[in-house]
Amino acid sequence: MCLFCKIAQHEIKANIVLEDEHAVAFRDINAAAPTHVLVIPKKHIVSLSEATEADQALLGRLLLMARAVAEKLDLLNAGYRTVVNNGTDAGQSVFHLHIHVLAGRKLTWPPG
Ligand code: 5GP
Ligand code: ZN
Repeated sequence: MCLFCKIAQHEIKANIVLEDEHAVAFRDINAAAPTHVLVIPKKHIVSLSEATEADQALLGRLLLMARAVAEKLDLLNAGYRTVVNNGTDAGQSVFHLHIHVLAGRKLTWPPG
């Protein structure tokens, strides 16, 4: 079982911000911003590239959970960034789909 599947099943501890039947949001262990949360599906999907039409509703749920994280952590006014790294060139290091929610400082664009 992969690392994020273990977190989703509570086999590895994580600082959970939100959870429902289909997804979990938890604090990144190596925060790249004052607020850095990862939103993952409980279903193992390697990356966005592996998602299919069958995942349409799940992908929508993940984005709405990212929004709910922003609301819970009071980020809706100041703003936040959502990022999905896919594959080697994007720097994906954990091969279980996740949406980064980054906030708490002025984020630069374009990203590195
Ligand atoms: P990626 O580089 O794949 O887009 O993002 C993976 C993220 O997972 C990284 O920001 C990394 O800090 C985070 N991460 C890796 N291992 C763990 C872990 O065991 N627990 C938590 N909470 N985050 C992790
Ligand atoms: Zn997994």
